[in-house]
Amino acid sequence: MTEAPDARSLELAHRLAAVQQRIATAAGAAGREGSLPVLIVVTKFHPAEDIRRLAVLGVTDVGENRDQEASAKARELADCGLTWHFVGQLQSKKAKSVLRYAAAVHSVDRPQLVDALAKAAQAERDMTGRAPLDCFIQVNLDDRAGDAGAHRGGAVPDDVLPLAERIATAAGLELAGVMAVAPLGTRPEAAFERLARVSARLVAEHPGGTAISAGMSQDLEAAIAHGATHLRIGSDILGSRPAVG
Ligand SMILES: *Cc1c(COP(=O)(O)O)cnc(C)c1O
Repeated sequence: MTEAPDARSLELAHRLAAVQQRIATAAGAAGREGSLPVLIVVTKFHPAEDIRRLAVLGVTDVGENRDQEASAKARELADCGLTWHFVGQLQSKKAKSVLRYAAAVHSVDRPQLVDALAKAAQAERDMTGRAPLDCFIQVNLDDRAGDAGAHRGGAVPDDVLPLAERIATAAGLELAGVMAVAPLGTRPEAAFERLARVSARLVAEHPGGTAISAGMSQDLEAAIAHGATHLRIGSDILGSRPAVG
């Protein structure tokens, strides 16, 4: 016997459909009807019950930005068959934990982190036979010096190729492509255009690294116009994030 959907499920269904419509419209405008980007629903700060509701609605990919919260949710929702994406700044000492549940890390931005992920991936593979970890190199597109640019993380564009080489030669890692967050206070179109150029340079050296993780609630249209293959959408689907106490 299936229960009638609760009010929150109906709300999520409505918001999810609206975002899917925006994606379809933007993909149509870009002539990309045949290759829609992967929708990753970023569920940080929202309860596991909401993720379960989204899975019932057909969501397959979810994103989280803190290991403690993500690992607990992944454990609780192990029966949902979800693909977990880690999208937040990551300390090397958390690599081992992240490898237990994440299929992809979108925030790889320094050699030490690559080495920690590679070591953890190898160990996890020996224990469970897990697939290689998909690695997105996070690119910092903010040229402003100091804290304004630094707080969103990412490697400077010139460091992308050396990082890619390090990922490509690590046994348990797979180079997926690039990721970026559009800098605050700038036009997302310009940022994503620049990301597309960084991606093209990467693909010239690593033909398999074609993924572009870009586009959030506010700027998914600009990201799709500039070739995003993975969107990371939170608030427009889940609503504003609950205050954490
Ligand atoms: C929270 C978050 C998102 C989702 O942002 P919204 O504006 O809520 O859509 C995407 N990417 C990263 C890295 C995030 O931390």
